[in-house]
Amino acid sequence: MDSLLFNLRIYRQKVNEGEVPQYYVENSHPAIISSDVFDMVQEEIKQRKTMKNRHSSAGIFSSKIICGECGGLYGSKVWHSTSKYRRVIFQCNNKFKGVDKCKTPHVTEDDIKKLFVTAVNKLISNKDEVLENFEVIKHTLFDVTTLEAEYLQMKNEMTVVAELIQKCVNENAQTKLDQEEYKNRYEGLVSRFEAAKARFNEISEHQQTIKVRRERVEAFLAALKEQDVLVTEFDERLWHTLVDTVTVFSEENIQFTFKDGSKF
Ligand SMILES: [Zn+2]
Repeated sequence: MDSLLFNLRIYRQKVNEGEVPQYYVENSHPAIISSDVFDMVQEEIKQRKTMKNRHSSAGIFSSKIICGECGGLYGSKVWHSTSKYRRVIFQCNNKFKGVDKCKTPHVTEDDIKKLFVTAVNKLISNKDEVLENFEVIKHTLFDVTTLEAEYLQMKNEMTVVAELIQKCVNENAQTKLDQEEYKNRYEGLVSRFEAAKARFNEISEHQQTIKVRRERVEAFLAALKEQDVLVTEFDERLWHTLVDTVTVFSEENIQFTFKDGSKF
C-alpha cells in the first residue's frame, strides 16, 4: 500500500445545510507509516491476542484439541478442584449440551503429552518424505499471483475514482451545474470508490492471512529440519511450532495434524 491510499479519506464538510453535501478527497500528505511497518504492527496485534490465550492456564492445549465428532474445540475442566486429586482434563465443549451429546472421550494433560512424543517421533522418522511432499505443493499453496493482480487493479481503481470525485467537486464549485445531476454523479462515484475500497480491504486481509500461514509453515519446516534426534518428553516450543491440531476420535484414535498438513 502506498502513501496515497493510506491517507485517502473522504470526509463530509458542512457548507450549507440542505444542500448537496460536499466531499473532498484528501490525498496530498506524505506517508505517515510505510506499508511494511503497517503489516508488522498488524501482525503483532494479532499475535498478542493469541498470546493471551496461550498463556492462560491450560490454554496451550485447549486451543488445539478438536472433537472428532462435532469438530468443535475441547475445553478444559478441573476435576476435584479442592482435593489432592485435582487435575485438569479436556473434553468436548458440546459434551453436555443439547440432545446429541458427543461420545468422544476426555483426555488428560498427561495423555496429550505422551501422544505428542509418539506423534512427533513419527514425524521426525518420516522427515525426508514430509519435506519432499511439501516441496511439491508449496507453490500452489501460497500462490498469490491472482490476488496481487487484483490488488493492483483495485488500488488503481481507487486512485482513478478519487481523482474523478475531486474533479466533480471542483467543477461544481466553479460552474453552475444542475444540482440534481451533480448529486447523482457525485454519489455514483462515491459508491464506486467505496466498492473498490471494500474489495481492496478484503484482498489485503486475504494476502495477510496467506502470509501468516506461510510464515507458520516455514517455521515448522525449519524446526523439523533441525530436529535430528527423537524427542523423549513434551516440549512446549515444539508443541507451538509443529502441531496444528489434535483430533480426538476415540480412546484409541487420536490424530495429530502438523502445520504442513501431515497427519500422524
Ligand atoms: Zn464434540
